[in-house]
Amino acid sequence: MLVAILKEAREDETRVALTPDAVKALTGKSVSVAVESGAGVQSGATDQDYEAAGASISGSRAELLATADVIPVVNALPAEDQEKLKRGSVMIGFLRPLDDPAALSAAVKRGATLFSMELVPRITRAQSMDALSSMATVAGYKAVIVAADHLPKLFPLLMTAAGTIPPAKVLVLGAGVAGLQAIATARRLGAVVEAYDVRAAAGEQVKSLGAKFIEVDLGGLQTEDKGGYAKELSPEALELGRQAIAKAAKTADVVITTAQVPGRRAPLMIASAAVEEMRAGSIIFDLAAPAGGNCEATKPGETTVYHGVTIFGPANIVAEMPVHASMLYSRNLSNFLQLILKKGELVIDRADEIIAGSCVAFGGEIVNERVATALKARA
Ligand code: NAD
Repeated sequence: MLVAILKEAREDETRVALTPDAVKALTGKSVSVAVESGAGVQSGATDQDYEAAGASISGSRAELLATADVIPVVNALPAEDQEKLKRGSVMIGFLRPLDDPAALSAAVKRGATLFSMELVPRITRAQSMDALSSMATVAGYKAVIVAADHLPKLFPLLMTAAGTIPPAKVLVLGAGVAGLQAIATARRLGAVVEAYDVRAAAGEQVKSLGAKFIEVDLGGLQTEDKGGYAKELSPEALELGRQAIAKAAKTADVVITTAQVPGRRAPLMIASAAVEEMRAGSIIFDLAAPAGGNCEATKPGETTVYHGVTIFGPANIVAEMPVHASMLYSRNLSNFLQLILKKGELVIDRADEIIAGSCVAFGGEIVNERVATALKARA
């Protein structure tokens, strides 16, 4: 049984799928791990570290693709790599199957089994495999740190002999995993924090972190699906949220936006007109930029200035924290691998809820209904 760790092909990627610690736990009598030379360098793991953990180092990507039984990845392999996969091998990672299902076609044709970490169901047994939460935690923290660094003001209230400095005001939109981490980080730096989310349950969590929750009366609308995720809102409900946000944003120094609806474009929460009303020198950090952005003026992948407001729309913010992002992700992947590797053999129990939920393709077919529908919609 060969597990291969390849260099990530995406230019802005610095994470690695499995760290040396994970490799050490995996290698044994019947599982060997091969690492493409340099795969871990940007996340602080050298070839020597992997060798010390029991892996072999290879200079030939083509050979690894042709021989590996399991390839854990951060991002899906590019099509030219997928075409070289060993028939029936397994690829696991952030495969973006709902956003770009066609990008997996070459692997499906090779008969590869594909598991998407985004689709791991959020049930208690799968908590240790919840890579979305791991990355959201890192993203929420980093967004506040970058915003604090760029803000031409201090975050905390300071009383000095030269006068009193009022605390910065931070507005957080979307109080899921990333939003709650952003709130906690901004509070620790001394800012006054307000937050908004459509899910009523988020209100208590926001308040428990010492932030104010912005209440919007949506007339008893059902905003949450049975998985605990936000539903896509009606245009009217979205507009009510936007009005409350525009009012709060006028006096905010930093707005961190994190709102997402799985498999859809991110909801538009800040209209350009609301940005125009914000104070010059303030900051919007749009963590939903990869899904289109929560702010109308966000340019995904860029940092821009609109009416004096700096808008960050990073394409891959977690890649700026590669050591801990890789460490958490690697642990999530290792826990997932334990489900499918039994005594050195691949055992794919498709009746298991976690396997069934996260399996995108099996035996040359797309087996996930939502992914199949997304693929048809784009054909
Ligand atoms: P997410 O990244 O999909 O979205 C971020 C936040 O944006 C969510 O809180 C969502 O309610 C909010 N949002 C979406 N549309 C909005 C709109 N129009 N206006 C305002 N807010 C909007 O979500 P997430 O952070 O991955 O987590 C979503 C939920 O899942 C949370 O309740 C979280 O606690 C829960 N969760 C459960 C588990 C588990 O049980 N294992 C693990 C992680 C998260």
